[in-house]
Amino acid sequence: MDIFKHKVSRRAALAGGVALTAAGFSTAKVLELSADPTGEKDCAPLISPGTGESAGIEFGALPPSAADLDWAQQAGFISDASCLNRTPVYGIVRIQSEEDVRQALLFARQQGLKIAPAGVRHSMGGQAFAPNALILDMRSFNRIELDEPNKLITVQSGATWHEIQNLLHPRYAVKAMQSTDIFTVGGSIAVNAHGMDHQVGAIAQTIRSMRVMMADGSVRTLSRTADPELFRLVVGGYGLFGIILDAVLEVTENVIYQTGRRVVSYEDFPALFRDELAANKKLGLMYGHLSTAPQSLLRELLLYTYEEQDVPDAVIPPLGEVSSVKLRRFVLNFSKTGSLPMRLKWFAEKNIEPRLESCSVTRNQAMKDGEGCLVSRNEPMHDSVPYLRNNLRGETDILHEYFIPRANFVAFVDGLRQIVQEEKVNLLNASVRVVHQEDNFLNYAPVDVFSVVLYINQITDSAGDEKMRRVTGQLIDLTIQMGGRFFLPYQLHYTAEQLEQSYPEIRVFFAAKQQYDPELRLTNTFYEKYAPSFASA
Ligand SMILES: Cc1cc2nc3c(=O)[nH]c(=O)nc-3n(C[C@H](O)[C@H](O)[C@H](O)COP(=O)(O)OP(=O)(O)OC[C@H]3O[C@@H](n4cnc5c(N)ncnc54)[C@H](O)[C@@H]3O)c2cc1C
Repeated sequence: MDIFKHKVSRRAALAGGVALTAAGFSTAKVLELSADPTGEKDCAPLISPGTGESAGIEFGALPPSAADLDWAQQAGFISDASCLNRTPVYGIVRIQSEEDVRQALLFARQQGLKIAPAGVRHSMGGQAFAPNALILDMRSFNRIELDEPNKLITVQSGATWHEIQNLLHPRYAVKAMQSTDIFTVGGSIAVNAHGMDHQVGAIAQTIRSMRVMMADGSVRTLSRTADPELFRLVVGGYGLFGIILDAVLEVTENVIYQTGRRVVSYEDFPALFRDELAANKKLGLMYGHLSTAPQSLLRELLLYTYEEQDVPDAVIPPLGEVSSVKLRRFVLNFSKTGSLPMRLKWFAEKNIEPRLESCSVTRNQAMKDGEGCLVSRNEPMHDSVPYLRNNLRGETDILHEYFIPRANFVAFVDGLRQIVQEEKVNLLNASVRVVHQEDNFLNYAPVDVFSVVLYINQITDSAGDEKMRRVTGQLIDLTIQMGGRFFLPYQLHYTAEQLEQSYPEIRVFFAAKQQYDPELRLTNTFYEKYAPSFASA
């Protein structure tokens, strides 16, 4: 997601503060909407049916072989970035080595437990855990080695893009990743993540090889040529075929971009892309934001471009963390409160932010006239989105993503607008990305598409949940009608029929899982919910 991707200077914070004071907005409200989170958000009691009880294991009452594992938690609950999926687990073990993974698998087999690998749990439908399963917390399994001459990294699957960028900067940059840097490599391969670099494509395109531990403890090395069938299943396979241990990924130069932005009509975007943008091979990163303001809802599109420049004397500063976190968080949360604040957010994005943009790259010589704003590739990709986390009770923000064949983009956006208006959806952000055809097995883009990423505010009571379920169902039906597919790391508010209509290969996917993991040791909430509908008679 590309919310507030562009960096804003300190002057922006000041200007925002002055504007709010002038508007007489109460200080208490400002503090509430901008407050840092006090911990992981938990929106219980909305617990999936049948998962309301803890696994009932007493701390310290585990079998002796449990002593070989590094327990982060025994029994208790786990949830994910949606805050809506509180689920009881057998326990969570910290993984620091390949041997830790093997021991955890052995323990699970001995105890007859299911097992699930988890990254930073930013999937939003329990894809990184399952009721009463043993969870592998992969985050400490994060060694990274750079092979500079070949522009490759060998990275353990718990490393995050943020950690990788800190190692690569200033010379190199990640080639394919999400639009923010918080995710683990394992979690990213398991969904075949994609981001702002449409030329490269999704992460699958940058994997030279990867090592995967199967449920029986054996290790296989996969690539497009070695074990290609399993490679295609593991990429976008949601951890159901094996635990990804490490991967060899291509990296690229940390080139300099000139930033650009322009407002276009959503109706003109497909032709603009076809006739102008697609041919420009210097366009390294690109995405659009559709208006979420009532007067131009999903009609105006603010297009952000990053065009490569040859700047031999560029001075690239160290990578910094995102600035003005409280201001960004406030603007987002304020926009949830009504149509005027939403108009202000869109106005600010179009008219104020361009003047306040931080252009971090300078030159040894004086800048040329009209040279514009220069940044290095790592900068827009080094965003840990701390402003998306908040301390607000009784609400949460949920992602959706729909992949639409390019010829149907305009019709899809028209249908989307109708649903948003009729259902009074509190739509906070709507991004557009260019996604090329992919070739993994459970594939969200079997043809070239544009993707539409939605960030929607949800009230966390049962009415809010029911509304999100209804809206998701409608958006998925619209997507299917347009010949598109929906992204699977999000809420499980769809039927088995919708899943099969969107992914006709799902039946074969689940059958292949059974073949590679006959004891069905590896699991997650998605598998537990949908696989039974596709079990062969
Ligand atoms: C704010 C936000 C922004 C997002 N932006 C984007 C975006 O720009 N582009 C995009 O493509 N997606 C995006 N996503 C979705 C995101 O890419 C996925 O949810 C991704 O899986 C998150 O990585 P993670 O480390 O949190 O994985 P988790 O949520 O922890 O796990 C996801 C899946 O990966 C499996 N898994 C984790 N580690 C391993 C391993 N070592 N071996 C095998 N399987 C494993 C888990 O079992 C689970 O099925 C976004 C999500 C959020 C919440």
